Amino acid sequence: MRYIAVVSSSNDASGDWSTRHSVLTMARRTAALVNVLAEGPQGHAEPGRVAEVLRAYGERGPLDLACLDVTRMRDAADRLREVFAAEHADEAAAVLNRLLQAHTGPLRLSSHGGGTPWHPHVDRDDDAPWDEWFLASSCLALTVLLWDRQLPPGRVCASAACPNVFITQGPGPERRYCSRRCATRERVAAHRRAHTRG
Ligand SMILES: [Zn+2]
Repeated sequence: MRYIAVVSSSNDASGDWSTRHSVLTMARRTAALVNVLAEGPQGHAEPGRVAEVLRAYGERGPLDLACLDVTRMRDAADRLREVFAAEHADEAAAVLNRLLQAHTGPLRLSSHGGGTPWHPHVDRDDDAPWDEWFLASSCLALTVLLWDRQLPPGRVCASAACPNVFITQGPGPERRYCSRRCATRERVAAHRRAHTRG
């Protein structure tokens, strides 16, 4: 049984329940999966690397994640990337509406047979294929974030050398880069360019 829809099971005493199951955490999992799925030669991510990310966001037990699953998840990631590429809420909403229409089913609640707190799903059932689950659950989380803030839920790293996406919403100032590493690299490069120009 797949417990992936939530960040951790309810009997985990560590951390705060509401934070671990928050829509923001689900959206961050989407960004982390989109990024890991772009790794590897020609974007052929290792199933082991994808599994690492799934586990980091609370998946437990043996992960039955085949190369074909990862290939299909990669297609889903390409579709989701369009949401992150949108500059304005209207554009992100249009992309999400298209994805919701084509790739999600009716809203339902699941507790995975009592193994997790009740939470919403829009995939067909709890044993849906990985790519269907990934696309549907990501659409749901990104939709709620857009609804909540009336802003695009995330963006692509402003560094031309970095393909990573990230979630912009949450505490702290608005960011342009996916990571401190990218922000530092770009600051150093801008400094060098200014120095070269004299
Ligand atoms: Zn970056």
